Amino acid sequence: MADIEPEKIQLGMEQGAALDEHASYATWPRDVQKLWLTMNSPRIVRELRFLHLAGMAMCLLCIPLDALAKVLLLGTTVRLVVVIPTYLLGIWLLQSKHSSLRLVGAMGPIAVFAGAVSLIGMEATGQFSDRYIMAASMLVSASIVHIPLSVRLSSWLSASGFLAIALPLLLVDSAAAQAPDLLIFAFLCCTFPLIFKRRSDRLRDQNFILSLKSRQAQAQLLTINKELEDLSQMDPLTGLLNRRGFERRFSAAFEEAQASGEPLAVVLLDIDHFKHFNDTYGHQLGDECLAQIGTLLKSEIKQHKGFAGRYGGEEFIATLTGSKSANAVSISERLRKKIADLEILDNSGNRIPVTASFGARIARAAKLRRHELIRDADKALYVAKKEGRNRVALYQGGGKSLKQDVELSGSHNTRYEARPRPLQPEAASPQHKRVL
Ligand code: GH3
Ligand code: MG
Ligand code: MG
Repeated sequence: MADIEPEKIQLGMEQGAALDEHASYATWPRDVQKLWLTMNSPRIVRELRFLHLAGMAMCLLCIPLDALAKVLLLGTTVRLVVVIPTYLLGIWLLQSKHSSLRLVGAMGPIAVFAGAVSLIGMEATGQFSDRYIMAASMLVSASIVHIPLSVRLSSWLSASGFLAIALPLLLVDSAAAQAPDLLIFAFLCCTFPLIFKRRSDRLRDQNFILSLKSRQAQAQLLTINKELEDLSQMDPLTGLLNRRGFERRFSAAFEEAQASGEPLAVVLLDIDHFKHFNDTYGHQLGDECLAQIGTLLKSEIKQHKGFAGRYGGEEFIATLTGSKSANAVSISERLRKKIADLEILDNSGNRIPVTASFGARIARAAKLRRHELIRDADKALYVAKKEGRNRVALYQGGGKSLKQDVELSGSHNTRYEARPRPLQPEAASPQHKRVL
């Protein structure tokens, strides 16, 4: 697959998959033919090389038969001086960039071997002579069947093989006339296998198209599976990850943070008095409110290379990793203000005030377990609610350096201990900065 660009491979695959599996190679579009060649050329060259090596071995192993047929000198000379070098040349030509040279390299040695055997046979004593001709014919016959070339190319081997066998017969006076049956035998051996070759070509082409269809179907299935997988992790209303999707990503981020030793922040966000919102303005406007907060959260958290999800109902969750985690409180604070500024209008066009409370937890992943991070953020959220809502609370886990980190980045912000406090009367104005 080295000398064909990926786009061409893709195109070939698509065109091939669209073909009828009974279409023959000759009717395939060029890109499909090219794809077939690219996918099969290395195997074909390997097989041809192996067949040539086997041919060379057979050629040498038959030298004792030359002795029996009393043509040892001629046989050995022809085999060593003509046949073996031709095979070596053929193996070398198989590597050529030109297809015509590769073709000569594939077929030449076989025709030369068959011709050489026929020539030696002419010099052999009576009964051996016929055997040589028959052996040469069988060699061409077996090669046509086994050689990994199309029927069209194999017919060249058929013709050249037959000529190579017949030529010595025709050149030796009266040999052909004396043995027409041998010529007929050679002709049948050189042509009959083409019928099988044609059939195996058809099966091969059919197989190839079916394999492309199956690959295409597999690729489509993978794409659909991926889409389904993505969908199963998305919340359709807000466009954020749903709880399942979030937890999956969070788990990976947590493991990464554990390995790197970097801190991680989890922020839980809950819309204030959302039940009342729904009861007063209707579920539909409630959905609109959730969608707007989801969009806001997504863009805000994405800016800081974190990710967010809808944790359930009117509750959202976000994670910030690495150095960004130290800014969890200031980012939450900015979000809190943006939510309070959202333009959600009732049926009469009046702006509906919406607020949310935040609970944050920043920690080194190595120091605690995954669910403890979320549990602590939830505790902080609980305190934010208790302390009057529309505020950000940070859980102080006791890690001294982390505490300092948070103090630096969120110095202007309310810092709450994640310890339930007595409920205070709720403020009329949204945000109260209180440091406990
Ligand atoms: P708090 O300030 O303590 O969080 O009070 P709350 O009213 O927001 O909390 P509560 O848990 O009592 O009510 C949550 C409401 O969120 C109830 C439910 O109708 C609403 N809700 C949950 N999911 C959806 C949703 O998908 N669409 C809409 N419109 N409302 C939802
Ligand atoms: Mg709520
Ligand atoms: Mg809630």
